[in-house]
Amino acid sequence: MHKSSKELFEEAIVQLKDLELRMGELTMRDRLSIPLQEMPNQDPNERRINMGEVALGYSVEQARVEAMRCIQCKTKPCIKGCPVGIDIPAFIQAIANNDLEKSIDIIKQSSLLPAVCGRVCPQETQCQLYCTVGKSLKDVEKSVSIGRLERFVADWERENGIKKPIIKQETGKKVAVIGSGPASITVAADVRREGHEVVMFEAFHKPGGVLMYGIPEFRLPKAIVQQEIEGLLDMGVEIRTDFVVGRTRKLHDLIAKDGFDAVFVGTGAGLPKFMNIEGENLIGVFSANEFLTRVNLMKAYDRDNADTPVVESESLAVLGGGNVAMDAARTAIRLGAKKVYLVYRRTEEEMPARIEEVAHAREEGVEFCMLQNAKGIVGDEYGRVTGMKCVRYELGEPDDSGRRRPVEIAGSEFVMEVDTVIVAIGNDSNPLIKQTTPALETNKWGNIIVDDTGKTSLDAVYAGGDIVLGAATVILAMGEGRRAAAAIIEQLAVNS
Ligand SMILES: Cc1cc2nc3c(=O)[nH]c(=O)nc-3n(C[C@H](O)[C@H](O)[C@H](O)COP(=O)(O)OP(=O)(O)OC[C@H]3O[C@@H](n4cnc5c(N)ncnc54)[C@H](O)[C@@H]3O)c2cc1C
Repeated sequence: MHKSSKELFEEAIVQLKDLELRMGELTMRDRLSIPLQEMPNQDPNERRINMGEVALGYSVEQARVEAMRCIQCKTKPCIKGCPVGIDIPAFIQAIANNDLEKSIDIIKQSSLLPAVCGRVCPQETQCQLYCTVGKSLKDVEKSVSIGRLERFVADWERENGIKKPIIKQETGKKVAVIGSGPASITVAADVRREGHEVVMFEAFHKPGGVLMYGIPEFRLPKAIVQQEIEGLLDMGVEIRTDFVVGRTRKLHDLIAKDGFDAVFVGTGAGLPKFMNIEGENLIGVFSANEFLTRVNLMKAYDRDNADTPVVESESLAVLGGGNVAMDAARTAIRLGAKKVYLVYRRTEEEMPARIEEVAHAREEGVEFCMLQNAKGIVGDEYGRVTGMKCVRYELGEPDDSGRRRPVEIAGSEFVMEVDTVIVAIGNDSNPLIKQTTPALETNKWGNIIVDDTGKTSLDAVYAGGDIVLGAATVILAMGEGRRAAAAIIEQLAVNS
């Protein structure tokens, strides 16, 4: 049953009053019995027709009650589960004590983008997986809601004025940052704080990387990304958009001709993979990247005014089971498709998408077609999609990834009637920088090879994020940015 924000907030007020009376004497058993605070969400029937954020955020009372669920265990396994090592128990303790300024200061020592990470990190496979509370209650979904608490304090800071970072005296050194996703944002901020000049080059007309063009508004409001970008501008970072390094200017020239002392490459993994099946070039087949970029960045949902509107779909299939597939399916629902099928060749258990996104997709009416896959796409005489040839699978023995391998069931072919197909089966790295910088070493997937400081095979050239890891996560990209920034700062100190 969907509970309104008002109901959840009122429950928390009562719970907090009681807990405050017993604050000094709360035992571990008491803390384990505090009810997990549900995230207030927009009603599924309303949100499926608007682009507004689904999760509405905790009230201060909810946040404090949730923070009191943390037993402050000595081993702190949650910290080991966080790719950037945030002191999670300390920031949560500060929330319980209602010291929100201290809480955000603790988070910011390790993470630069808490409002983003609190919303999109896969906490259930990171910090919350190791939470002692979840383990004691034998259910990872009952772990302390670390991500929601991180989001809460980050939003509190945004509403109460973000502290401006101190910038050291100008050094006269210049660093080029290519791309403007989370890896690059982190490098730009860390390097600029040291007093170095930073110029960021972005191929699109708006900076922010996947945070801007990929992850939809209903999961990550663009105003939050925009605020991070404005923070960089306030620090004195210069951002040049519509600038494709490799085409507008070669990477090598940035150093040899433009006087940059170091370069960071954070160009991400934006090259969509396709199924390579018959009919994939028909009208009505999109990569998830194209579909989401058109909707998020080019405002394709505004059909009357958009330069690149998307077709109106009656019945649509999304191929894939990750966050990108969920985002595409949920976006299609909001654009008015009557039927949205999510076609995945394994089962829900193997789906890599965040648990919350899967639950939200289902609530919004996405139909999950598990153990099925597309064999081909069929069209009419005008080259428009009319259906998708599918086949059913069953699970066999585990493959190299440890997941049970889907095995085709002979004779199970059928045609799914759809007018649109969105392929969301993964992304590779963009080959442009490699093609135009031949000496830059990459692996067989085209990812840039770096050492353990983030340095590439070229002098003064560093890289990080998806272009190094392959399609990964925001927090890992941020962590990679931190590492490369530290190495760049060290290189510039040695050469000064
Ligand atoms: C739809 C979608 C949903 C996702 N959901 C989640 C999620 O819920 N949680 C999560 O943790 N992760 C999620 N991810 C993954 C996450 O967004 C990425 O791992 C992360 O953004 C990678 O950051 P990055 O800085 O390496 O690159 P990106 O964010 O990809 O940014 C790279 C930027 O470089 C620019 N660029 C590329 N080539 C050039 C060039 N030659 N010159 C100039 N600029 C260039 C691109 O235009 C882009 O703006 C999602 C990804 C997608 C696509």
